[in-house]
Amino acid sequence: MKSIIQANPHYCFLCGGNGHMEPLDKHHCFGASNRKWSEKYGLFVYLHHKSCHIFGENAVHVNAENNRKLQRYAQRKAMERYGWTIGQFRAVFGRNYLDQEE
Ligand SMILES: [Zn+2]
Ligand SMILES: [Zn+2]
Repeated sequence: MKSIIQANPHYCFLCGGNGHMEPLDKHHCFGASNRKWSEKYGLFVYLHHKSCHIFGENAVHVNAENNRKLQRYAQRKAMERYGWTIGQFRAVFGRNYLDQEE
């Protein structure tokens, strides 16, 4: 499965830079028990290992706001791509990340 969020895996989804100076990691937008569903439905992006993924101040595993933004974006993309309602998204991922209700 390819990412349905990011067409080109050779750039960082967060900062737009390429992987020449710093390697890119694959980040699953919904982790833990939802990691396998993120994989199955293509809900992952590529991020610079240190600065944008794990350690930097904007990194999605550090910056809760950036993480949440990415999750909202991923949910919208999934609903669009698979024709899901919020309820159908929640049936797979266990919760709704959008501000709007059903
Ligand atoms: Zn980056
Ligand atoms: Zn990650």
